[in-house]
Amino acid sequence: MSADKKEPSFRESVDLMFNRAVALMDLSPGLEEKIRVCNATYTVRFGVRLRGQIQTFTGYRSVHSEHMEPVKGGIRYAMAVNQDEVEALAALMTFKCAVVEVPFGGSKGGLRIDPREWEEDELELITRRFAYELAKRDLIHPSQNVPAPDMGTGEREMAWMADQYRRMNTTDINSRACVTGKPVNAGGIQGRTEATGRGVQYALQEFFRHPEDMKNAGLEGSLDGKRIIVQGLGNVGYHGAKFLQEEDGCKIIGIIERDGALYDENGLNVEDVRNWIAKHDGVNGYPSGTYTKDGSKLLEQDCDILLPAALEGVINLSNADSIKARLIIEAANGPVTAGADAILREKGVVIIPDMYANAGGVTVSYFEWVKNLSHIRFGRMQRRQEENRHRLLLEELERISHDNSINWTLSPKFRDKYLKGAGELELVRSGLEDTMRTAYQEISGKWHEREDVTDLRTAAYLVAIDKVVSSYDTLGL
Ligand code: NAD
Repeated sequence: MSADKKEPSFRESVDLMFNRAVALMDLSPGLEEKIRVCNATYTVRFGVRLRGQIQTFTGYRSVHSEHMEPVKGGIRYAMAVNQDEVEALAALMTFKCAVVEVPFGGSKGGLRIDPREWEEDELELITRRFAYELAKRDLIHPSQNVPAPDMGTGEREMAWMADQYRRMNTTDINSRACVTGKPVNAGGIQGRTEATGRGVQYALQEFFRHPEDMKNAGLEGSLDGKRIIVQGLGNVGYHGAKFLQEEDGCKIIGIIERDGALYDENGLNVEDVRNWIAKHDGVNGYPSGTYTKDGSKLLEQDCDILLPAALEGVINLSNADSIKARLIIEAANGPVTAGADAILREKGVVIIPDMYANAGGVTVSYFEWVKNLSHIRFGRMQRRQEENRHRLLLEELERISHDNSINWTLSPKFRDKYLKGAGELELVRSGLEDTMRTAYQEISGKWHEREDVTDLRTAAYLVAIDKVVSSYDTLGL
């Protein structure tokens, strides 16, 4: 990503950040090494007959740590996919799962392909063949390795993979739990598609409940009116920016996409821009705001919050000095390189790190996996019972007030809200919010509790590594 030769690779960046944290811990050198390295990376090259010839594709699945199984992590479709990247992402998954306490080890996969170059039926053939190669080696498996969507993949690809696994394991009653992020009608869960963006929103909301942390970033007040620049209006960026705009009153003043960037100090309508991109394959020509071809320049524009949600390494040695945001929330994985991280820390910029900020996806994937294994949708048993108990209470209150000639009525809005039992979506959101809030409190607590911990990333690593170490201790390693 970087033009500067001194920039470490993504994998090295993750290692450097890890090393910064373990330097503050008292781990035995052997254990430190065990936690840092990737256990295994499988490379596969396979051919698919398409467009009159055999096309060869290269894919990876890396397993970073099996201290808990299954291991978990997305599958990315992009031309830039390589072993270094997949291993870095797998390592981040280990720490991410630990930070939000989902009982998985870390893994990640990728296929070197530009999905936009292939028709849907071709992509299905390629995906099924890739899934076959992985499943054959238990790298897709409900109890060993459970992929999910990432850049360039979504619920369509997950449905193909789940179906491929099921065809290969016809008697496995738990086959649906082999991947997460599936469509709801194919064993998915409500709220998974939006989960990572929703998690970014919950993370920012929790940050703004911590006055000391806000002070460190030089921010005041609430999220309402905060000026945000977002990079990447895909799954994560779109949902995150949309919820922050529609529900928290944030102003999305900049949107950076593949083909350039839009800027409007009065705020851009996220939904409109997303629809424009879908129709025109980019932001260029959008009727409001100013368009710049060199989109990455907008990362350096003044704003309150910078929300990179596209690629790794976009804030690097070449532009870190020019970043003006006071707060960066890493919705993407690895958007800030280790070198840039040091520069930004020096400048006093607060970074909410990827391993926590984008953990909403894996959290809801965990709920989906549990749902698949329990073979029942969340809320099915208790929703109506909950509604009936609430109705009983309201009827009794109304009877008492009537018998005592007390003249009061409940507002219809309150009544409807109170009477509505929680369905799957409400339960998923509640579980996700709880997870994001609890994890932030733990990370922020670590930041303030120790003088030698000067940033949220190191604090998050300390929390995560502690949890991985406890698992190893329990295993007797
Ligand atoms: P996506 O493919 O849905 O969206 C990526 C977006 O970035 C697209 O709109 C694309 O056009 C845009 N983009 C690509 N290159 C760009 C460039 N050079 N400049 C600006 N924009 C560019 O992917 P996603 O699932 O939203 O993932 C984005 C990031 O979030 C990745 O780092 C991924 O690892 C991370 N992440 C995703 C999830 C998830 O649940 N999908 C979970 C955790 C982390």
